Amino acid sequence: MSYDLVIIGSGPGGYSAAVRAGQYGLKTALVERDSKLGGTCLHVGCVPTKALLHTAEIWQHFLHSEEEGIHCENPRLDYPKAVERKDKIVAKHAKGVEFLMKKNKVDWIKGSGKLLGGGKVEVRGDKGIQTLDAKNIIIATGSGARMLPGLEPDPERILTNVEILSMTSVPRSLIIIGAGAVGVEFGSIFHRFGAKVTILEMLPRIVPVEDEDISKELERVFRKSGIRVETGAKVGEVAATEGGVKASVTLANGKTDQIDAEKLLVAVGRKPNTEGMGLEQTRVELDRGFIKVNAFQQTAEPGVYAIGDVVAGTPQLAHVAAMEGMVAVGNIAGKPVKPIDKNRIPGATYTEPGIGSVGLTEAQARAQGHRVKVGKFSFLANSKASILGRHDGFVKVVADEKYGEILGVHIIGPHAYELIGEAVAAMEAEATVETMMATIHAHPTLYEAIGEAFSAVYGLAINA
Ligand SMILES: Cc1cc2nc3c(=O)[nH]c(=O)nc-3n(C[C@H](O)[C@H](O)[C@H](O)COP(=O)(O)OP(=O)(O)OC[C@H]3O[C@@H](n4cnc5c(N)ncnc54)[C@H](O)[C@@H]3O)c2cc1C
Repeated sequence: MSYDLVIIGSGPGGYSAAVRAGQYGLKTALVERDSKLGGTCLHVGCVPTKALLHTAEIWQHFLHSEEEGIHCENPRLDYPKAVERKDKIVAKHAKGVEFLMKKNKVDWIKGSGKLLGGGKVEVRGDKGIQTLDAKNIIIATGSGARMLPGLEPDPERILTNVEILSMTSVPRSLIIIGAGAVGVEFGSIFHRFGAKVTILEMLPRIVPVEDEDISKELERVFRKSGIRVETGAKVGEVAATEGGVKASVTLANGKTDQIDAEKLLVAVGRKPNTEGMGLEQTRVELDRGFIKVNAFQQTAEPGVYAIGDVVAGTPQLAHVAAMEGMVAVGNIAGKPVKPIDKNRIPGATYTEPGIGSVGLTEAQARAQGHRVKVGKFSFLANSKASILGRHDGFVKVVADEKYGEILGVHIIGPHAYELIGEAVAAMEAEATVETMMATIHAHPTLYEAIGEAFSAVYGLAINA
């Protein structure tokens, strides 16, 4: 078979690119080795975690309903039912992706894809081997969980994001190694379901890519809520015990602790799915296994593009994978394309309190030589936060003094991952702090806190 475009991998990067290619009239094939379309994000990432998180939130409402004057007799968590709900949501959306392929006349080719060089892609599937001729190829093969040396995932004790999502009960205790987005999200979910959670992070702070004030606030709230957080912690031997697992940890103060738990989650980053892809037959260049691309997602091999988690230096986020797909397909179809500005990518971490951020942190802005002005507004003074009973967190605006340029916005608090949208749009539209101060924010809303934080840059917040 001969195609204008063959895409390998059907995660948010690959399937979105396939839809756009169909819309542009390119004859397109989507190669996927799993039996279902949707990738990490849909099956073992974004969607199932957020479905469980929603249930954890509802569960907390029941546990604390007395504060609202609602008396619930013996609320009971039926965790298998919560897992069933999560699985239904995932299945519905996997069908949705299949529908999109049909609607956009994309051929779904089942099997594992490999580049043979010269525009040929070999697909090995249950029905044997076939070779596709491709004018263009997009590699969208994503990533898998990175393990610590000497550890192998198993469904009983040592988990990755895959095994933890198919547990049928809430563990009594859970050790999490790694406090990036994946680690803290699972910690926040299972803590709310009642597990005793310990988070171990080698670096001096949790969510290390965020602004330092955000890390401090999340750590403060986690500790206050009963999550044990150890930063600067080095994990040594991990051994199976009768009841689960034991980890030997050298703490920041140099002392060694033995921590027991029923289960242990390894969340120390993601490795690229590039092995066995036949890249050695091409000019595609790698950086520690990740694929190097230019601003249009082109690799060093003519006609071969890469998008999403597999790309070197790409923030591993579903919306980035999808937008990189738009750039690659636009380029292939000869349409005007705007390469991605890494400074305008929203980061979202779905903890309690949640995190939403965009642009430079205060430290990055100072390091780049900006004359930094910061405006901060706490959710303590926001009436909607009071109504919700969720006062932790703040909005922090990082601006340049000279023209009021918005350099970054960092939010921790209720629904921060939704609120950040306003800041992303403001930065994309190159609005200044003054523009945002003059933007009317409805009352009572959480996003009023954003308007106040912009005003706080000039010491003009009203409710502070
Ligand atoms: C627990 C967890 C929670 C997350 N939550 C969020 C979130 O809330 N928001 C967010 O933006 N991001 C989140 N992410 C990150 C997000 O899942 C990834 O950034 C996103 O899935 C990357 O998309 P992708 O298209 O690059 O690859 P993937 O989604 O990894 O898809 C790659 C696909 O390629 C297939 N494949 C691989 N090799 C081959 C081959 N040789 N032949 C054929 N098929 C192949 C795989 O089977 C897979 O289906 C989360 C990740 C994890 C692990």
